[in-house]
Amino acid sequence: MKRVADHLSDVLAAVHPLPPLELQLLDAHGCVLAEDVKAQWPLPPFDNSAMDGYAVRRDDVAGAAEDRPVLLPVLGDVPAGADGDAVIEEGQCVRIMTGAPLPGGADAVVPVEWTDGGVGEVAIRRGPGPGQYVRHRAEDVEAGDVVLEAGMHLGAPQIGLLAAVGRDQVLVRARPRAVVLSTGSELVEPGQRPSGGQICDSNSYTLTSAAKEAGALVFRVGAVPDDSRQLMATIEDQLIRADLVITSGGVSVGAYDTVKEVLSTLGTVHFDKVAMQPGMPQGFGTVGEDRIPIFTLPGNPVSAFVSFEVFVRPAIRKMLGVARLHRPGVRARMVEPLRSPPGKRQFARARYEPGPDGDTVTPLGGQGSHLVGDLAHANAFVVVPEQVTDVAAGDVVDVMLLERRRG
Ligand code: AMP
Ligand code: MG
Repeated sequence: MKRVADHLSDVLAAVHPLPPLELQLLDAHGCVLAEDVKAQWPLPPFDNSAMDGYAVRRDDVAGAAEDRPVLLPVLGDVPAGADGDAVIEEGQCVRIMTGAPLPGGADAVVPVEWTDGGVGEVAIRRGPGPGQYVRHRAEDVEAGDVVLEAGMHLGAPQIGLLAAVGRDQVLVRARPRAVVLSTGSELVEPGQRPSGGQICDSNSYTLTSAAKEAGALVFRVGAVPDDSRQLMATIEDQLIRADLVITSGGVSVGAYDTVKEVLSTLGTVHFDKVAMQPGMPQGFGTVGEDRIPIFTLPGNPVSAFVSFEVFVRPAIRKMLGVARLHRPGVRARMVEPLRSPPGKRQFARARYEPGPDGDTVTPLGGQGSHLVGDLAHANAFVVVPEQVTDVAAGDVVDVMLLERRRG
């Protein structure tokens, strides 16, 4: 049997980051930046008001107090979007709005709350400190600064920053396009009522969601029956839009295990027994002229999901060009004992809880690879190494976290 680590390194050696391309800003959301982005102009681009109030010369209002307000004539209004040509002389002010350019001659802003709100003349009851309520040009970003570096993941604030510095397109790594298909003549679409012997195709939904969460652009093809010709035709049809293909089912030793039967004749896809539980039968290789990587995962829903997490997710992450391929690992104390088969690496679904007296992890229910009810409540896998067969309550174990740590 092949070790998990060896299978993973074979998979990772065979996939590569996709070439960069220019995308419209919103299409680049979730992608990895492939250029250093410089600011074309400073942020803020000009001195402007942080408050609705009055732009003043600080010296004019230095003596203002509740019982001794300073009265100033108001030259007019400067709203956000004004051209910035306004100027005030000694003893004058303008009414100014948040984000509006500070007039020449002004050096501070008095918030409207410190005044009587006058329009022709204003009574100011308090003087601002030096530069108060002014947002200074370039205090955030200087023109020419590298604001985002190649390799960064573009989340919401990064997309916003690109927009703020005027970029409508950006060079990013393409998101890998993943085609997901299920195989099995017993499968029907959710929404259809399964008749005797049929079940709903859940794997293509799990794997589509998981691939999306990993950062791929996913095309879900429904279930294909266990029929060699139909399976091969479907895979060939899909290759045009695939950077990787993920199938589930049909890879063990049953008489109708079509995926294995069809793809093993190509010679480019290898079927291995990987020493893990669940998920032992794994196929990986390439298909088509463009040698598109294909993962043929086992059909049992838990096996399919574990296999995705252990092998496919890191591959998608590598294709995306991100540095962190793997789920975060932590150590936690087992609440209950757990048995693990000798010679196999076990990925036991579990509930991980951070706690003030140390983090704990509790295996969930049975570990049968058809038990999807428990899987849906797991937030982690306990990873039991090959040589370990018994984990006692209280033992500290390796945990692979499936969701971001909370709290
Ligand atoms: P197989 O690997 O095709 O022999 O499938 C193993 C088990 O997983 C069988 O009980 C299948 O019915 C089940 N199975 C296979 N594919 C799916 C799927 N897409 N959704 C739900 N269960 C599946
Ligand atoms: Mg099957």
